[in-house]
Amino acid sequence: MICLIAGYRKTMITQKRCPFCQTPAVMGCPHLAIAVEGRDFVRRCVELCQGQKQWRALAELRQRQRQATGEWTPERDDYTWLETAFCEEFLKPLSWFGGLEHEWRIGPKGNQAGFLVLLWSKDPRRLWWQLRDELERQAQEPFPGKRRKVKGQSPRASRRDGDLRLL
Ligand SMILES: [Zn+2]
Repeated sequence: MICLIAGYRKTMITQKRCPFCQTPAVMGCPHLAIAVEGRDFVRRCVELCQGQKQWRALAELRQRQRQATGEWTPERDDYTWLETAFCEEFLKPLSWFGGLEHEWRIGPKGNQAGFLVLLWSKDPRRLWWQLRDELERQAQEPFPGKRRKVKGQSPRASRRDGDLRLL
């Protein structure tokens, strides 16, 4: 057991640092949006962005889509509980996303070891706003993953002259 704890201490030396200000994650800094166990990550993200309503709508929409197409594979729902899948699908596309890392932590008595998921952002508050918008957008999208890519023909681009705030 002593050897094990010594091993854990050694891993703690390689603890993660904030990509923006280099503060060790264990000390916390304004860029650390969240530091939780993996199993709580998705739920906490949805709570922190206050997007529970949008999240439920998105889950229902995707369920209906699957029933309509008759397609279903377990992997498709990974994003509802797996932090890396959630990150790929909803966080990485956001401009305020700063990074996702895992850090090994032990409790004060050395008996509560586990991996924490760290989410970084230059401005976590803006990241949460963006996440809620993204959940809302995807909850209204009839075909997930098939975004319009023809910029010149999108409604947003055609309003460019009239309202710069849309950009
Ligand atoms: Zn920082």
